[in-house]
Amino acid sequence: MERKTQTGYLVLADISGYTSFVAKTEIEHADIALSYLLETIVEKLSNLLTISKLEGDAVFAYIEESQLPEARSLLEMIDQTYLAFRDKAGSLYAHATCDCKACKAIPTLDLKFMVHHGDYVIQQIAGIKDLLGTDVNLIHRLSKNHVTESTGWQGYALFTYQGLERMQTDKAAFVQQTETYEHLGNVETYVMDMHIRYKGMKAS
Ligand SMILES: [Zn+2]
Repeated sequence: MERKTQTGYLVLADISGYTSFVAKTEIEHADIALSYLLETIVEKLSNLLTISKLEGDAVFAYIEESQLPEARSLLEMIDQTYLAFRDKAGSLYAHATCDCKACKAIPTLDLKFMVHHGDYVIQQIAGIKDLLGTDVNLIHRLSKNHVTESTGWQGYALFTYQGLERMQTDKAAFVQQTETYEHLGNVETYVMDMHIRYKGMKAS
């Protein structure tokens, strides 16, 4: 067993929507759509990041700080991943030949990103790598937040203060919020609406 502590960016890309309202008979179509979309997300994230694992409808990835040429490239990767996700969902919907609930609901699927900067330990047991640490716990807790409740946004990128600070990005473009978690306390977050960014990318 080998363990070492590293510092870097942690990214969780989480597909929202679906499973709760898809009937048993339609689950197969939902799964097919989700696996295509997860594949698209993995492909885009892995241009820059190391994929840690698939977690249901989410992809968890990371990059050690020294491996990141420019923090700005992380923002570009998020844009590119979101663009590819929405385009893929659009084409799956356009090519769906059935009108079951799962296929009809493809356009309601959305993608949210959580980005944090912190420490993690890579634990390797029998060749399987796993990321551990308080910051790893935090980013997973962050996927339960009140962004949609307070802004109405379904597709968004949420950065912790630490995540955004390291990137030296203008905070004015973000909505600042505070999330509170048991045992972790208050977490200052900065959120941007990916729908607006998508429109911008499609227009240019
Ligand atoms: Zn269908």
